[in-house]
Amino acid sequence: MDSIGLVELARTLVDIDSTTGREGDCGRWLAAYLRYLGWTVEGQHVSGDRINVVATLEPPQVVLSTHFDCVPPFFPSRIEGSRLYGRGACDAKGILAAQVMAAERLRADGERRVGLIFLAGEERGSDGARVANGHPLARGCRFLVNGEPTDGRLGAATRGILRVRLLARGRAAHSSMPELGESAIEKLIDALVQLRGCTLPEDPLLGRTHYTVGLMSGGVAPNVVPPHAEAEVMFRTVGPVADLRPALDSLRPLVEESTVLEVPAVFLKTVEGFETAAFPFTTDIPFLDAWGKPLLIGPGSILVAHTDEEHIEIAELERAVDMYVSLAQRLLAE
Ligand SMILES: [Zn+2]
Repeated sequence: MDSIGLVELARTLVDIDSTTGREGDCGRWLAAYLRYLGWTVEGQHVSGDRINVVATLEPPQVVLSTHFDCVPPFFPSRIEGSRLYGRGACDAKGILAAQVMAAERLRADGERRVGLIFLAGEERGSDGARVANGHPLARGCRFLVNGEPTDGRLGAATRGILRVRLLARGRAAHSSMPELGESAIEKLIDALVQLRGCTLPEDPLLGRTHYTVGLMSGGVAPNVVPPHAEAEVMFRTVGPVADLRPALDSLRPLVEESTVLEVPAVFLKTVEGFETAAFPFTTDIPFLDAWGKPLLIGPGSILVAHTDEEHIEIAELERAVDMYVSLAQRLLAE
């Protein structure tokens, strides 16, 4: 093994397929590389051969963290002009490479209180982060700097998620005598129309709550009054989930409602001198609360993450190394 530069490190990581569920190879390579550089490295078991990679010197007060799983489909790295393309180039292996380089620079300056936590599973339910939150070093840490593509701006807040299933029940009948039945589909439609008219919570930073009716199904045949129907609604929340309750409760006579997934909206630590912005997506941060006050920042744009044009400007990646170094120094001085 040899120590490698920023772009080569990012490319090496991109070229190991670590689509969520298949993070084993990438995790093992990363652990071996950081160990080779001189870090104390732990491969923290997540599931199967999937691991989180925790690298420290002394018990950390600041950790730089991101994830190394990616959305499908995998495609390898290539350089075109000033950009690095590839799955994970911006979300989040480029960021990971910048964090390693920043940590290495701090270590070379004698700073031993900065750690690294690289996670599996961010793209599907954050199982890596949930495991990492139980790590014994977490309680002593003061700040968690989480890297996601924010165009180099500090996140002031991120939206949460509330995914609910709405279930309408009816009574089947021959469609020639609909008066004998009760249509679950009509009830579900009424509930969704009513939801459109509900006043939903707003937040000065995050804006209005919005939602998507992403799934819908119901009925048994064209000539049967439908006895059941259901929809899944994904709310992107801007504050406590309890604030959505009045709207959801108002649908109850028409549908039964159950929660499928809940991720809280998060309000983050900001630092003077860093541009801030609010972001509509969720991250691992809600599941890493044991690691200290959270900050969110990374190079690259969320607009190209998860697309087949995923890329990052190499100059932006290089600036991110300086940015993580100075942010860590600022936080350690607090
Ligand atoms: Zn990400």
